[in-house]
Amino acid sequence: MAAEKSQKHLKLQTIVQKPDSGNSVYEPCQCIQPSDPCIIIVFGASGDLTARKVMPALYKLFLNNFMPQEFAILGCARTRLSDAQFRENMKSILTDMQTMPPNAWNKFASRLYYQSIVYDDIATFNNLSDRLDILTQKYKTSGNKLFYLAVPPFLYETIATMIGRAGLSTEADPDKNWSRIVVEKPFGSNLQTSTALNNTLQQSFKEHQIYRIDHYLAKETVQNILVFRFANAIFEPLWSRQYIEYVDICAAETLGIEHRAGYYEKAGVLRDMFQNHIMQLLSLIAMEPPAKFASEMVHDEKAKVFRSLLPFDATTTEKNIVLGQYAAGTLNGNKVPAYRNEPGVDPQSLTPTYAMMKIFIDNWRWQGVPFYLMSGKRLKEKLTRIVVQFKDVPHSVFSTIISETISANRLTFVIQPNEKISLTFQAKNPGSTVCLRSMNMEFHYDGTAEQTLDAYEKVLIDCMNGDQMLFLRQDSEELCWSFFTPLIEDCEACINREKNLCFYEAGTEGPRQAKKIKNR
Ligand code: NDP
Repeated sequence: MAAEKSQKHLKLQTIVQKPDSGNSVYEPCQCIQPSDPCIIIVFGASGDLTARKVMPALYKLFLNNFMPQEFAILGCARTRLSDAQFRENMKSILTDMQTMPPNAWNKFASRLYYQSIVYDDIATFNNLSDRLDILTQKYKTSGNKLFYLAVPPFLYETIATMIGRAGLSTEADPDKNWSRIVVEKPFGSNLQTSTALNNTLQQSFKEHQIYRIDHYLAKETVQNILVFRFANAIFEPLWSRQYIEYVDICAAETLGIEHRAGYYEKAGVLRDMFQNHIMQLLSLIAMEPPAKFASEMVHDEKAKVFRSLLPFDATTTEKNIVLGQYAAGTLNGNKVPAYRNEPGVDPQSLTPTYAMMKIFIDNWRWQGVPFYLMSGKRLKEKLTRIVVQFKDVPHSVFSTIISETISANRLTFVIQPNEKISLTFQAKNPGSTVCLRSMNMEFHYDGTAEQTLDAYEKVLIDCMNGDQMLFLRQDSEELCWSFFTPLIEDCEACINREKNLCFYEAGTEGPRQAKKIKNR
């Protein structure tokens, strides 16, 4: 950390070279406004995710003219509400947002509807179907429907089955009248349950209709990894075991489990962060170039990475993984409780809130290159970052005049917060003698963003546009579970489970035992 602070920063201007004019101008990306009119049906409309993410994203899209010309939003849940009550509830949620122009709100609110539903009662789904027919006629949405499951995961299969039984998943012509379903993580809790979920979803929906969200993928910096790698000729020749020493992917959180003890106690950090988000980041760094930037081709290359993961065995599990759980500590000057003292958590809980591991990709490009993966809650700082550490220079021509070793080049993608890409290189300190210092060449997102979309806005636009690039495909999902399920089962069945769990003080960098993994 101290070394990083002493480095000088060269801030790059974000400019685009116009080939024809020779002028350098900034050109913002155009966002594609969905053209198909549609109805968005939000299950779990009385819940937390709807209030905090889905509805604010829809409203912001509307304010910025990114919704289709004709649309309606139909909230569904067991709670009995009229349309007017639902509109009031949503208004109270959205008033926190900066912009609430009265006319805009009235227009948006006029498109909000509510239908109470019993998730396992087909009669209520038939009522839903009738309601959708009326809204389809009113807004001329040609039968286009987007079902968003913002409900607890145990309801996914029931709701998807009921949608199918009510005939609402059928697409007469997928190009003209579509029906899509959006599912939030977690997609199962192991390989078996994930496969079962996929099988059930596919009884009502085909794969092209299913959108499994990983909101990490919708972040600008994550999307930029592929552009950085495959739109620049200078890095790809270096992108292999020949020049890369290791890759380090970390997703550190300062937050605890908030109000989600019920979910987190069963999930733990391996299911919550590694099987999905961290694996996705890994695949973007490690994949081969797809022939085209097209959804299926990108998914094919990601799947190849997951197929090449070297499985853990008894020795590597012990040597290459550290699991931890936060104890009480101090964060930003405030005392925070231990995980075991969080509301809803078992006081003897052995659920890991932190993991650090070393894994390998068993293929030509990455043979022998360690990938260090880390994620944890209640850590010192919030930071999601990928470091590509290059090898040392093969021979130091300066060895006779400087005593210290030369720091190797390092490429860093900061995913959040303060999104940036940074390349560290060596330069000569000004002066009469030769001494080196590390410099950073940096690209900062905050200086360039014309109008960036929040991850949920991007996800919703892509669903409406039928673009599955940033969603998870079934085979990848199952491949990641195949990799993690034996590991999770081993950890959970371990006799010395308590002994193997390293407790760390909240507000620190995690268990000190984790540092040893990098030295092994
Ligand atoms: P909630 O617990 O708020 O539940 C959403 C709605 O589902 C509730 O309003 C309730 O509506 C219905 N519901 C809840 N429990 C039951 C039950 N036992 N039986 C039947 N219906 C029930 O969930 P969230 O909004 O927090 O999360 C929704 C999904 O999104 C989950 O899969 C979660 O993992 C995922 N997710 C959530 C995030 C978040 O920040 N909240 C972040 C990332 C993913 P009613 O009683 O009116 O039917």
